[in-house]
Amino acid sequence: MELKEKSLICFDCKAPYTFSVEEQQAFQAKGHNHPPKRCPACRVTRAAKRPQKQVEERTTAFIPSAPRQFFAVKCSECGKDTQVPFEPRAGRPVYCIDCYHKSRATKQ
Ligand SMILES: [Zn+2]
Ligand SMILES: [Zn+2]
Repeated sequence: MELKEKSLICFDCKAPYTFSVEEQQAFQAKGHNHPPKRCPACRVTRAAKRPQKQVEERTTAFIPSAPRQFFAVKCSECGKDTQVPFEPRAGRPVYCIDCYHKSRATKQ
C-alpha cells in the first residue's frame, strides 16, 4: 500500500498539520492503524503530561455511589415506623426488618 502525505487537523489546538509519509511508516511499524489525533507539538506536550494526568483523571472519575434513599413507612404487620430502601407501592404490604425476616422464615 502506497502512503501519501496527509493533511490532518489537530484534536487539541485545531491547527492543520501534515502527517508525513515517514511518520505514517513509523506509526504503522508500531502497529497503529489510525492516524494520530494531534499535531506533533501537542503529542509531545501530551506525552509529557500523561503520567500526572492519568492519576488526576482516575481520581476525578471516581464517583461514590449515590446515597441510598430511604422511605419512611409503617410496617404492615406490626405498625412500627420503619424505613425501606425502595419506594413503597400502593397496595403492597411493607414490613419492618423484623417482620420481613419473620415472613421470609415462615415461607421457607
Ligand atoms: Zn496541536
Ligand atoms: Zn413489623
